Amino acid sequence: MVLITSPHNFSTNLNRISRHSRWYNLVKIDPWQNALKQLDDAAKILKLDPGVHEMLATPKKVLTVAIPVKMDNGKIKVFTGYRSQHNDFRGPHKGGIRYHPGVTLEEVKALSMWMTWKCAIVDVPFGGGKGGIICDPKRMSAGEKERMTRRYAYVISEIIGPGKDIPAPDVYTTGKEMAQIMDVYSVMHGQGEPAVITGKPLSVGGSLARNVATGLGVAYCVREGAKKLKLKLKGARVVIQGFGNAGTFAAEYIEKMGGKVIAVSDSKGSIINPKGLDSKKVLDYKNKHGSVVGYPGSKKITTAQLLITPCDILVPAALENQITPEIAKNIKCKIIAEAANGPTTPEADAILFKKKIMVIPDILANSGGVCISYLEWVQNLQRYYWTFDEVAKTMEKHIVRGFNDTYNLAQKHKVDMRKGSMVLAVGRVLESFEARGLWP
Ligand code: GLU
Repeated sequence: MVLITSPHNFSTNLNRISRHSRWYNLVKIDPWQNALKQLDDAAKILKLDPGVHEMLATPKKVLTVAIPVKMDNGKIKVFTGYRSQHNDFRGPHKGGIRYHPGVTLEEVKALSMWMTWKCAIVDVPFGGGKGGIICDPKRMSAGEKERMTRRYAYVISEIIGPGKDIPAPDVYTTGKEMAQIMDVYSVMHGQGEPAVITGKPLSVGGSLARNVATGLGVAYCVREGAKKLKLKLKGARVVIQGFGNAGTFAAEYIEKMGGKVIAVSDSKGSIINPKGLDSKKVLDYKNKHGSVVGYPGSKKITTAQLLITPCDILVPAALENQITPEIAKNIKCKIIAEAANGPTTPEADAILFKKKIMVIPDILANSGGVCISYLEWVQNLQRYYWTFDEVAKTMEKHIVRGFNDTYNLAQKHKVDMRKGSMVLAVGRVLESFEARGLWP
C-alpha cells in the first residue's frame, strides 16, 4: 500500500489530521476524495447545478456484504465485500471486481465513479459500478478463492444482471472468477446468462481480444498522444511500472509501434537496461522466476528511480497514488499514459501540467478493457461472435474518438487532459439526465 509523506493536499479529511499525530505519515491517500475533487473541477468548468453536482457525487447504491467461507482448515472465515453502483443515467452499471487486502469502501466508491466517466468518454452505453473483497488472494488456495467468489456472487446476485449491473475482472481477478460468477447467476436463474458478466474465458462466451484489451487501448492512446506532440514512436524510450495484464500488453503493443522498453517493474522490484528490454522475454523470465528482478543484462533500481527515469513514455500500470508531488517534480518524460486507475494524485497533476507533460488520464487510457467488455456483452446478447480484428478495430474507433474529444476539450478550456476528460464525461452524463428527467 502506498503511504503519503505530505498531506498538504486536497482532502479536508486528511488536513484535519493533526500534523503531530504519529499517524501523520501513514495516512493512505483517499481515492474517494480524489474522485470528488476531480468532479468539483469539472463542475466548475461546466457551471453544474449544485443539486445535480450533489447527485453525481453520491453513488446510487452501495452494498456491503458478509462472505462466510469454509477455509481449508475446516474453520469459517468471514470476508467483507462491496458493490458500489455509482450512476446509471447512460445504461446499466459496469465495472470490475477486485480482490486485495487494501480494498476499502471509499476505494470501491471512487472506482465506481471513475467507471461512470470512463464509459461516457468512450461512449459505451453503461453507467459505473465496482466491487471488491477485502482478502489476500495470494495467500488463499484455489478452493478457498472459489468458495469466496461463489458466495459473493450469490449475495450480490439480486443487484446484478445483464440489464442492471455487469461486473468484470479487476486487480487479482481473472476469467476464472468471471466464469464462476456467471455459473452461480445462471444456476440461480435457471438459464445460461453469459451477458451478466464480462472478461469470461472464450469457452463460456468471452470475447476475442478481451485479454489484451486494456494494454492495446493504452497503446492506441500513446500513438494518438505522440501524433499530437509530433513525437516519433520509433525508438521512443518507454518505462512501464507494473507488469501485470495491462502493463505487459501495453509494452508489447507499444514495442510493435516502434517503442523501446527500457525499464519495467513488478511488486517485487524494478529493473532497467537503457539499451532496451525485450518485453516478451522479460515476461517469460517473470513467469519462470516469479519476478522481473534478475532479468539478464538488467540492473535493479527502486520504484522512485523507475518513475523518474528519463524517457519519452511512462506507463504507470500498478496501483493508485504512485505519482506523488515529489515524484512529479522529478519526472522526465513527454507522455504519461495511465494504465492503472488513479496512479497520479491531484497535486501531482498540477505539477505535471506546468511541466507540459501530457497525462493521458486513466479513464481514457485504460478504457480498452471496458470497451471490449461492451463488445463482449453485445456478442452475448446477440449470441453471435466476432473475429479478433473486428473487435479490436471497433474498440480502436471508440478510443480514438474518446481521445480526440478529450484533447479538444482540454485545448478549448486550457486545462490538462484529466480535466478535459471529466468535462467530456460529466457533460455526456448530464445530457442523459436531462433527457430522462427525475422521477418519481
Ligand atoms: N476493471 C476494468 C476497468 O477498471 C474493466 C471494467 C469492465 O470491463 O467492466 O476498467
